[in-house]
Amino acid sequence: MQKDLLRLMRNPSLLPSEKQDLLTHIANQSASMNMPCYIVGGFVRDLLLEKPVKDFDIVVEGDAIKLGEALVKKHGGKLTAHHKFSTAIWFVHENEFVDLITARSEVYEHAGALPTVKPSTIDDDIRRRDFSINAMAVRIDGDHFGELLDPLNGQNDLKEKTVRVLHPHSFIDDPTRIFRAIRYEQRYGFKIEPNALKMISQESFEILSKLSGERIRHEFDLIFAEVNSSKMIFRLGELGALGAFHHQLPELNEKYSELFNSKTPDEFGISNNQVMLGYLLWLLDSPMEMVRSISNRLDFSADLSDAVRAVLHLKNELPTFADFRPSTWTARLDKVPLISIYVLWLVTKEAALKEFLTKWRHVKTNITGDDLIARGIAPGPRYKEILTRLRAAWLDGEVKNQMEEKELLMLLL
Ligand code: ATP
Repeated sequence: MQKDLLRLMRNPSLLPSEKQDLLTHIANQSASMNMPCYIVGGFVRDLLLEKPVKDFDIVVEGDAIKLGEALVKKHGGKLTAHHKFSTAIWFVHENEFVDLITARSEVYEHAGALPTVKPSTIDDDIRRRDFSINAMAVRIDGDHFGELLDPLNGQNDLKEKTVRVLHPHSFIDDPTRIFRAIRYEQRYGFKIEPNALKMISQESFEILSKLSGERIRHEFDLIFAEVNSSKMIFRLGELGALGAFHHQLPELNEKYSELFNSKTPDEFGISNNQVMLGYLLWLLDSPMEMVRSISNRLDFSADLSDAVRAVLHLKNELPTFADFRPSTWTARLDKVPLISIYVLWLVTKEAALKEFLTKWRHVKTNITGDDLIARGIAPGPRYKEILTRLRAAWLDGEVKNQMEEKELLMLLL
């Protein structure tokens, strides 16, 4: 096994070579400080699945802050230390940071609470984790480089494609693990182990229902960032978890499930925001009152709440827009968040929405406020009227060149 892990860790298509170098720095430094040092969690899981790994969390049996300080001294960068938890983040450079954590054990004072932690061994640290597939570590200091620690048989569960909790109270201690279990199940095509499935029960939902909106929303954010997000939302509904924190939380409309990973075409000029897209598609067919209350419960950001409400309004009004001219469409759409317009276009394919996003919204008049000043028109609300009228004329094809625009201006004055 050791050999296999070493091979995977040296594979640049799984772990880019600059990350391998970073790992070597950390491994050498911790060895010189006699500090057993491990990479834990998702890194080991994904490496064993032969999937590219992104980041790594480092756990040391010792003082993670001291290790961080030594790394900064030798290799530069900056350190942010959290003395209360003996953890640190090493900001290696602009796009690279590493979490350095002191191995710890956790106690949950009451179900759903954030845990109380104290320094401990790697074995305890592994046992406080959520699932066996996330409870593996690989040691990296000195001669130990590449040694796998798998006390809970995570490797076997990876082979069996199983998401297994580590103890019977897991979902009660922390019901956000229900979301996590579903994420792994749907992401990797695994099965939640039958006993664990039974533990996703009314009792865990009651605790889930008491969690802060921010904690629950964070879990939805993670889901909507996934490729299989629509399957995950369906699965949450199937297991009864959606109703747990809002009595009216809607199921997803199956018609939209293919749209969750739509990449916004460049011509739309809108940045890809898969998470926001996910929320909008999910809530698109819900009544406004329900959306308001969900947005409060899940503590939506102002941007997200505006975008969701805007798409609902627009969807309801759309049938009345049929005979609108481009200028009337534009006047209505100019104030709507672009992502809301885009989502409505995705589901309706209404041509005018695309025209607005790709063309109409960019239409500008040649004549500007400065030209109006130069013509001696007294500044005031009249400026806006004139410029809006001129823009409408461009949009509707009433003027097609600068000469015609000037002629129209003369008529307006
Ligand atoms: P992903 O690919 O989903 O990001 P990850 O394993 O990197 O997977 P993180 O959320 O970054 O996930 O968590 C890192 C590790 O911390 C996990 O692998 C797991 O061991 C542990 N962990 C995270 N959340 C919990 C939790 N709620 N309960 C117990 N352990 C957790």
